[in-house]
This record gives sequence, structure tokens and C-alpha cells, in this order.
Amino acid sequence: MLTWLLLCLPLALAADKDAFATWVDRLPHPSTELDVADGYRFQHQVFGEIAEAVAESPGLVEVESIGTTHANRPIWAFHVTEYTRPVERKVLVFAGIHALEWISTEVATSLLVDLIAHPVEGTAVTVIPILNPDGRVKVEGDLAEGVLRYRRGNLPNVDLNRDFAVNSEAKALWKAFLPGYYATSTEPLSQPETRALDALAARECYARAASLHAFGGFLYYPWSGRWQRPPHRKQFVELGRAMEKAQGSRAYKTRQLARWGFFFRAQGSEIDHLYGRYGTRAFLVELTRSGIRPFRPKTWRNKYRWYNPVDPAPHVSQGLEAMRALIHHPPLPDEPSGAACGPPLPDAAPLGP
Ligand SMILES: [Zn+2]
Repeated sequence: MLTWLLLCLPLALAADKDAFATWVDRLPHPSTELDVADGYRFQHQVFGEIAEAVAESPGLVEVESIGTTHANRPIWAFHVTEYTRPVERKVLVFAGIHALEWISTEVATSLLVDLIAHPVEGTAVTVIPILNPDGRVKVEGDLAEGVLRYRRGNLPNVDLNRDFAVNSEAKALWKAFLPGYYATSTEPLSQPETRALDALAARECYARAASLHAFGGFLYYPWSGRWQRPPHRKQFVELGRAMEKAQGSRAYKTRQLARWGFFFRAQGSEIDHLYGRYGTRAFLVELTRSGIRPFRPKTWRNKYRWYNPVDPAPHVSQGLEAMRALIHHPPLPDEPSGAACGPPLPDAAPLGP
């Protein structure tokens, strides 16, 4: 069965490349002037640029639809591999898990185009520019209508970053006092987007990963759902410091997510899942320090602006510096090799959705 799957994979990926090109051609182009999103790419621009880069370097990139959403939209992943040397490890960077956080897609798209131009020897990198395309389409519709709603979830409005399996159960003492704060979806991996990411992670055994969000200026590592330190804390801090160093002045700060505040936990997050199940050293990166400007009250009410600052360019470079450092940092002991995942951590939630 496995051999059959492996033999079929390249053929399936070639078919996906054609399907992707056709899909990009059909993406709608919004006609309205959208000042608020000035400098941010819409889907047709994001994927149009990627399609051009892929067409210029066809041998370097594999295009894969890793799953489809409730609205039957494909979730696109791009695998960039430099073939002159054997792949020693794999890195995953994904964005757009939360609908309004467009800056994350800006960083992922720029990273992908850059990787296609300058692939990394010995390291295969997968980039997913938009994990939640249904949520993204809702925001594109809002912007075209000139309304600015708070959007985070997918089509049925589930927060995908509370839908993963590891540490999905709230154990914090505080949950009795703040039950809504620790809310998760009804059962782990209940959504097609989270299942697609889980299947990809299980197949690829990534050494490292970054999930891009906004805002805050933090490089968060697991656990997010429990207070205990993760077994590989030293490695997380080492990788975090490398990203900080690459960012220079005003670098983001490296922290364990559950220790952001004494009451804070994120149950069922992507970083706990990738790390707890597959051993991937996974970071949740809160890009920017928000687009809210204290002396410009207009920005206080503008929910798009909370996450996406005017002029994304400096924030994109800052994000790129961190991602390059994460990808290029020398190997660490016991990182998953790409051929085999790390063992599930003993105190992680039991396997199986
Ligand atoms: Zn987010």
C-alpha cells in the first residue's frame, strides 16, 4: 500500500501543478479600490505571483493540494527542494490560519518566491500561504463591500487553532473561572483544514515549523496548552535566539506560549500538535506589534488594521529574517529527519482524533 502511494505521489503532484495553474486563472479580481488593504496582495495576486515563480523553475517546486475545505476550495502547499544534494531535513512554514491575519500570508508568499529563487541545499521547505481559504474569501468579500468585520474562523466559524489534538483538554485551574477563555472545538481535528495539516505533518516529518500569525512580536514555542516546560526547551530557545539575532534591533521575543500570562493557555494549538505528535520544533510567530496607532482613533475601530499595519514591507522583511534563520540554523540533536518523525511525547494526548 505504502509503495503504491509513494509511486503515485509524483504523478498526483504533477496533476496538481496543472490544476493549480487553471485554478489561478479563474480567481476573481476585485474591482473596488481598497485603501485599507493597500500593499497587501489579494488571492489572485498571491497565487498569481507564485504561479509565475513556479513556471520559471518547474523542477524546483512541487505543487500539492493537501485537502479541500468545507466550500471545496483547495488548500495549496508548495514544496521547494534543491535536488543537487540529498534532503537532510524538512521545514514547514504556514500562514493564514486566522482569516484576518493577512500579514502572515504576505510573509509566507515572499518567503516562497525567495526560496524558489534561492533554494536551500539539503533542506526541503514546504510553504502554505493560506491554510484557511474559506475564511480568507470572507474577508476579501468584506473588504470589497467596505465593511470590516472581525474574522478568525473557517466557513462554520471554528477557530482552527483550537481544533488540534494535543493538549486539547483544558487542565488549567482557571478554566472554572473563565470557561469561555479555554474553549476549543467540539472534538479534535474536526475540521478539514486541521486534518489536512495533520496528514501532511505525519507524512513529511518536519524538523521545524513556523505558523505565522499576527500580532504581538513574539516567537512562541510549546507548550501552549500546559504550564510545564517542553522536553526540548533548550533547542527552542536556541532557535528563538537565532531568529531574534537575525531580526536585529526591535527583534521579537522568544517565549513559551503558555507562560505569556499566568492564566493563559491555548488548548488544541498547532504548535503543541506538531511538536507533541511528530517531534517538530514548531513556533507560533506573532508578526508585527499591531497596526493600531495610539494617536489615530480610526485605527482603533478598524479590525483589519489591528492585524495588518499600514505598509507591510518592514514587517515582511522582519518576518523573512526570522524564517531564514529558522530554516538555515544548523541541525539539532534528535530533530525529525524527514524520513521518520520523532516519537510522540509521552505525556502528550493519546493518538487518534
Ligand atoms: Zn492568529
